[in-house]
Amino acid sequence: MSDNLASPSVLVISAHSGDFVWRAGGAIALSAQRGSAVHVLCLSFGERGESQGLWKQQDMTLERVKEVRRAEASAAAGTLGASIEFLDLGDYPLRVDEAAVERIVGVLRERQPDVLLTHVAEDPYNRDHNQAHETTLLARMVAQAHGHDRTTRPLGAAQVLQFEPHQPEVCGFAPDLLLDISPVFDLKTKAMACMTAQEHLIRYYTDLGVRRGVQAVRNGAPKTVTHAEAYQRTFPTVGEELR
Ligand SMILES: [Zn+2]
Repeated sequence: MSDNLASPSVLVISAHSGDFVWRAGGAIALSAQRGSAVHVLCLSFGERGESQGLWKQQDMTLERVKEVRRAEASAAAGTLGASIEFLDLGDYPLRVDEAAVERIVGVLRERQPDVLLTHVAEDPYNRDHNQAHETTLLARMVAQAHGHDRTTRPLGAAQVLQFEPHQPEVCGFAPDLLLDISPVFDLKTKAMACMTAQEHLIRYYTDLGVRRGVQAVRNGAPKTVTHAEAYQRTFPTVGEELR
């Protein structure tokens, strides 16, 4: 648990190098602006399955795609105010071996995030996203275990917020948080513009932000709210009030 409860620290576990931008860019920028430490862990570059724009270019190679995706995601993270690292585990399919889990556990214990952001559990279109979800819960569990590594501090009860999948109704996604990202939507737009290998998604996620913003107002947010991101909590919240 970070010392400053007003600005919970955030770790984002992203299956591919673009996912965190489309689905959680607003949350990242908002948290960073409020003084939270935000770190993004990309399990892969999305080099095979989520780099369509690059594979249309002549003489493209896997290594070149990875280089470009690393540069794009680093620029996007910098724009949003987050630090970023890449595990380069490969994609389509993403395979997370024991060494990778150990490494993620190490990051969790070192950074002690209050909140984890990752994918949903069951996306029939994208098994890599499911793998990232499972990896997050597995690493969280191990990081919490007191007998795991006596030289580092166990992780606390970090909430896991699942960000919105591409086709939410097919993934059983039922948001219980509509996060107002209106004040930082310009930053999300700039970060999305960094992701040239997936340019086709910019308009889609801009429209989605507007739609979720309308729904936030419908659910009680002030009329000044123009953009939102949807999240689903994995664990119950704790409180003393009925709300
Ligand atoms: Zn992805």
